[in-house]
Amino acid sequence: MIDRLLDSNKSFVSDTFEPQRPYYEKIAAKQTPKAIWIGCADSRVSEDIITGSPPGTLFVHRNIANMVSFNDVGIAALLEYALVHLKIKDIIVCGHTRCGGIAALEGGVKENYIADWLCVGAEAKAATDEIAKQHRLSPADKLEVLTMENVRVQIEHLKQLTLIREMLKRGDTPRLHGWLYRVETGTIDVLINGETGRATSVMRRFTKPARKSARKRKA
Ligand SMILES: [Zn+2]
Repeated sequence: MIDRLLDSNKSFVSDTFEPQRPYYEKIAAKQTPKAIWIGCADSRVSEDIITGSPPGTLFVHRNIANMVSFNDVGIAALLEYALVHLKIKDIIVCGHTRCGGIAALEGGVKENYIADWLCVGAEAKAATDEIAKQHRLSPADKLEVLTMENVRVQIEHLKQLTLIREMLKRGDTPRLHGWLYRVETGTIDVLINGETGRATSVMRRFTKPARKSARKRKA
């Protein structure tokens, strides 16, 4: 396996790097990434490949279940560097289907560190429990809602970080995008529109008040 990685690097140099040498020389001199990517560490969610982004495009932070934790100095430093020095204006929080972290958040987990880490998604779990109860969601639908709610909550966490709160106050607002990558189809759904800050119809899919209006009609 490790040999294959190194062999593939040789192919990358001959097939990609050399033919595009001017581009790679340009980014070697200075990186100007266009967006911050906060994603899951899951091996199936390769942000460069699924968005067709060559090296130099995305500034990346990945962890279990794409969390934004208040006591995570790693993500705080990354955001400070990316927003203040690289002056990136877009932050993408991307969740994904079949996420082991989200399944563990829903089903509970015994490993201490993993359980502690998943507490960062506790608000998403509480909100999803309520939605699932109200809308009588199947376990599969509930997991999808939890994945989406977790993206929403992590965007709220971003807004609460002092660095970003101060930027929002000054009107120097980074756009906060919420996405869902579907590992079954390779497609990305937009959950939260970064321009408007609003949840899209995909995000609201399971919470549309269809049953309420049915109840009203009955009454
Ligand atoms: Zn995941």
